[in-house]
Amino acid sequence: MKRTFAAITLMSLLLAACGSESPSVNGESPSPSASGAPAPTVSTSPSPSPSPSLSPSPSPSPSPSPVPTEAPKAYKMNKNYDMIPIDPAGNKKVVLLTFDDGPKEKGMIDGLINTLDKHKAKAIFFVNGYRIKEHPELLKLIHDRGQVIGNHSYDHISLRKETNDKVDYQIGEVQKQVKEVTGTTPVFFRPPFGEGSDYVREKAKKENLLYMTWSNGSLDWDLPKNSTDKPQAVIDNVMKQLHPGSNILMHELAWTVETLDNLLTQLEAKGYSFVDPRSIDTQQIPQ
Ligand SMILES: [Zn+2]
Repeated sequence: MKRTFAAITLMSLLLAACGSESPSVNGESPSPSASGAPAPTVSTSPSPSPSPSLSPSPSPSPSPSPVPTEAPKAYKMNKNYDMIPIDPAGNKKVVLLTFDDGPKEKGMIDGLINTLDKHKAKAIFFVNGYRIKEHPELLKLIHDRGQVIGNHSYDHISLRKETNDKVDYQIGEVQKQVKEVTGTTPVFFRPPFGEGSDYVREKAKKENLLYMTWSNGSLDWDLPKNSTDKPQAVIDNVMKQLHPGSNILMHELAWTVETLDNLLTQLEAKGYSFVDPRSIDTQQIPQ
């Protein structure tokens, strides 16, 4: 039974992957707060979240791996959207990994998560409702493979000037969808293009969502057209803005999938580890 279901799912995914690519262009603007060189923090504490290594099997987990739902709260977000340890003596040399605008394609999602697993890293996948509607099984895949789902609005529109009713729908509907598909409700929200308003923040709070943009934009969505080495350009952009607590914005894009392993290796070489989103205390008010 299960195998048949898996085969059907796989086939529908393969078919879907043949469809033409959506022309969605993410015009998110660069970080307002990219700070310069990394601070000379000395910290050698290990990654806060040793995770069980998951099978890289391409089929929807034959033996379901346990999906962690809770972790001890060790980090909070500041007003710059950086992650800082709650314990002042905690490890400051961390980054938060985030991937926006999916779920689009199984191949890219598996590619990203295989690499995350290799580095024992967890990330937030900020998803859009219209994409969940097209591919609920891809949302489930992200969840079942132990990664964290965030709310990125239904239509990926700028919410800054929208009516309260529309904002309610754009955020509320995705909360419902994710709950329906995965059984859990998101606790992270990122407005498309980083464009919010007082009401958007209020609505996020009402939904128990931690509102964030980012503090290190990889610019993977806006690389020069003539860029000959997009994977390297993504790494260069992140490294230029790297600082303790960096909240790194990336997307479900082919060159980001390609470069992620190298990027994470280079971050580790600089002594950085990866914040488990589940270890972020979303109830703390950013200061
Ligand atoms: Zn986006």
